[in-house]
Amino acid sequence: MGKINRIQAILRQVDLENHSSRNWELIHEAPQCGCYYCTQVFSSSEVNDFEENENGEKGAVCPYCGRKTLVTPDMIMEGVPFSAETMRGISEAICELEIRHTRLSDMFKKDKWAYDHWHDYVIEFWTERALKPISQYIELCVERKLIPVEEFSAEALKSIAGEIADIHLQQYAAEGTDNNFVPLMEAEIQRTILRKALKYQE
Ligand SMILES: [Zn+2]
Repeated sequence: MGKINRIQAILRQVDLENHSSRNWELIHEAPQCGCYYCTQVFSSSEVNDFEENENGEKGAVCPYCGRKTLVTPDMIMEGVPFSAETMRGISEAICELEIRHTRLSDMFKKDKWAYDHWHDYVIEFWTERALKPISQYIELCVERKLIPVEEFSAEALKSIAGEIADIHLQQYAAEGTDNNFVPLMEAEIQRTILRKALKYQE
């Protein structure tokens, strides 16, 4: 199941931003709540802090990470456990949505925590995306013994691609960049791997 579908499979209510700005009472009516930022699950009686919006509505704040990212068991689909792993699932699904809408630059600029938290996931996502178009070609070369298996195994390719993606991501977070960032990074991953492969075929 794709992660986009996964958020719909986990949550009854997907408009989390709207919910989190006015959920103070709902949180305290529930026995438990969980945070999809720090992935803790705890008793709602631990929630003592809130932020008020311009309409005077209160949004509950997580006692562990200080963010308005709390959900209650009744927001979770039937049959899905109310656990840290489910909180992580929500977090990953949101991250994927952010990537798809390429709002990562906003996300990283205003929030170093988001960068740290989602770093591995973003790298994995980009690495996979960059490798997809060339993986068939590489597989064919390995099959025909044109390039050595050990250097072009799926694992080795992922590791090379991950390193390049990481460098780009760090630059991106530090300096920001234009909209060409993702295609440029993908192209560089592909160029590096193809250059390596072609060297063996000469
Ligand atoms: Zn939290």
